[in-house]
This record gives sequence, C-alpha cells and structure tokens, in this order.
Amino acid sequence: MTRSDHEGIPFFLPWITRDDKKAVRQSLNSRWLTGGPKVRGFEEEFAKYVGTKYAVAVNSCTAALHLAMRALSIGPGDEVIVPDLTFAATANAPIFCGAKPVFADIDEDTFNISSKQILEKITPKTKAIIPVHYGGQPCDMKEILEIATDYKLHVVEDCAHSLGAKYAGKQTGNFGTMGCFSFYPTKIITTFEGGMITTNDEKVEKKLRILREHGMSRNALERELGTNWYYDVVDLGYNYRLTEPQAALGTSQLTRVDDGIKRRIRIAGYYTKALKSNGAEIVVPHQDSDRSHIFHLYTIKVSKSRERTVRNGLFKNLAGAGIQASVHYTPLHLMSFYQQFLDKKSDAFPVADKIYEQILSLPLYPTLTKKEVTLITTQIRSFVYESKVSD
Ligand SMILES: *Cc1c(COP(=O)(O)O)cnc(C)c1O
Repeated sequence: MTRSDHEGIPFFLPWITRDDKKAVRQSLNSRWLTGGPKVRGFEEEFAKYVGTKYAVAVNSCTAALHLAMRALSIGPGDEVIVPDLTFAATANAPIFCGAKPVFADIDEDTFNISSKQILEKITPKTKAIIPVHYGGQPCDMKEILEIATDYKLHVVEDCAHSLGAKYAGKQTGNFGTMGCFSFYPTKIITTFEGGMITTNDEKVEKKLRILREHGMSRNALERELGTNWYYDVVDLGYNYRLTEPQAALGTSQLTRVDDGIKRRIRIAGYYTKALKSNGAEIVVPHQDSDRSHIFHLYTIKVSKSRERTVRNGLFKNLAGAGIQASVHYTPLHLMSFYQQFLDKKSDAFPVADKIYEQILSLPLYPTLTKKEVTLITTQIRSFVYESKVSD
C-alpha cells in the first residue's frame, strides 16, 4: 500500500515488500497449497527465531489460544485468569472449552496484568493464567511463574503483541507452557490471518498438531511422505491449518522482523521525545529497564481531570486532522457478553476503569515517517495545551 492511497495518516499500514510478493507468487506454483512444506519451514524458522524447541502454525491467534486451552484439557468447571484490558480472543479461549474466564485488573503503568490481582483471583478451580504482553512489553514473568509454580497453574502467554520482545534475556513465548502469536495485519509480522503456538514440551506439540487437523493421528503431509494411507481420529479436532502462501509470506516477513522492530522503537522514540517534555498532562509509555518494549502499540495516557472529555476530544481532534488514533481496549468487564462471567459482588477493576478514560494509541507502523510523527505530535500538543476543554 502506498502513501498516495490515503488522505491523512491511518492508524496502521501493512508493510509488504517485493520479496514478500515474490515468495507468495512462488508458493502458488507449488503442488501443496495448504499444510505442506512451506508451513513446516515457517514453523522451523519461527521456533529458531523465538528460541523454543517447537512451533505449530495455525490460522489465527484465536485458534492458537483455543488449542492451547484444549492441549491443557481445560473444560467445564475450570477457571482461567486473564487480564481485563485485552482483546476479546484472550478471554474467549477458555469459554470455547466451557471454562470460565476470570478477569484480573492491570498495572497502572504498563497496562499488563497485575500479579497481585492474579493472587486475589486464584480459587481451587483455577487451572491457568493467560498473561498478555500489552503493546509489546513483557509482563512480570518472574512473578507470574512463581505464582504458577506455587499454585500448580499453567501459563499460556498471549504474545499477539510481543513477537521479538525480550524479558530476562529470553523472548516472550518461552516462559509459559505455550506462547500464542498473531499474524493479523496490524501485528508485528503478518500472514493476512494466521497464528503460531510455541512450546518446549514435545507432548504438547504432538497434541497441538493433532488438534489442528481434525484430530487425525497423521496429517496429509505425513501420509504423503510415508508409505501408509491409514489414519485414526484420536480426538475432537478442528481445521485450524495455515495455507502455503500464508506460510511463504510469514517466512519472508520473519527475515525482516528485527528491522521492523528497530523501526518501531525508533518511531516510539520520536513520539516520546516530542510528547514527554510537555508536562504531566500527557504520559508517554512506561518502560521497565529489565525488558524490551517492541511497540506494537504506542499508547499514551491523557492525564488531566475529566480525562475522558480530554481523551475523547483529542481523538476527535486528531480525526478531524486526518490522523487516526485508537483505544486499546475497552475493558472486558464493561462489555455485554462478559457480564455473565463477573462476580458482581466482589469483582472490581479500579485501575482498568481509570486507565480506560485516559488511553489513546497513536499510529505506529514500520513505514511511518519522522515527519508524520511531528505532524501528529504537533496536533496533540496544540490540542492538549492550547484548547480549553469545557465541562
Ligand atoms: C490480535 C489479538 C488476538 C487475536 O489474534 P487473531 O490472530 O486476530 O485471532 C489475541 N490476543 C490479543 C491480545 C490480540 O491483540
């Protein structure tokens, strides 16, 4: 997509190169169109990049999270702790399996799940925690893993934002029993739609492969490569396969992932430099020194009394100037569908409630220019510091 396709600055633009297109075109000449050698190759490259023993490709991160729950045999009567400030799919995964999502409040600075809140939400029914590395900054995995060990819980990392982000020298996707990644167009790399599950557990890997393909004991590629046509159906599986052109695109994109992250970090730096020096009314993203932030999202807090008025006003003001911002996310406890999972007496989310009034995600993608960032930050500064917001 080129600049001339747009008026103004969109929230997101895909980054597809000539090499990406060539890879996809080549894959179309192959005998395999889905679930074949390109998918295997992508899985191998991905595992190598993240640093896990295994990676299993699926057709979305939603599918990845669902299979992760299935691989852990999570079902009716079980509870899974998820952050309140996340995308719906994180909480839906346990629900797909008949389990209950239990929402935990977040950290005021990083917007990641609060370890203290996890402890408060653990019950005898709790089976797993799904921490989300919000915006591309890893959660407190040391604390979360300690809690998981103490209470014998599984950890499934939702790494939809965090491909390439490091904590204690290791990439996200290495800490839980499994890590689930998204290749939706706005994410760090894309396969149009797509996802990946990383794991170091061979039994889990085998189970995931079976669940991904209809519960079959041997998939088409394995049958083709072997000498036996027979397969058994050993579990209730799905068709969550990734196609070959998607895998070809993903493999090509993966060769540029570090370049993309470098660009994101540089752009985040431009934003921070321009917005930070202007008083406490705009709070730039908090960064912990012991981990990397790869800036899938650049989320500011508009910190002022009557925040909501200011944040919503800023959103509209930017939209009026052709700049598309966004809010990540409306807390799940405020959404209609999740009301049935809340404990109305004891559930409270003071931090998520407060943050929700303040947060605004600014455009950030590898091809965003410094000049565009200047346009955006100039617009933000003049709105926040020069306009009078009335009651
Ligand atoms: C995007 C996203 C997902 C879902 O990814 P899909 O590939 O679109 O299914 C899950 N969790 C989080 C936190 C996300 O941002």
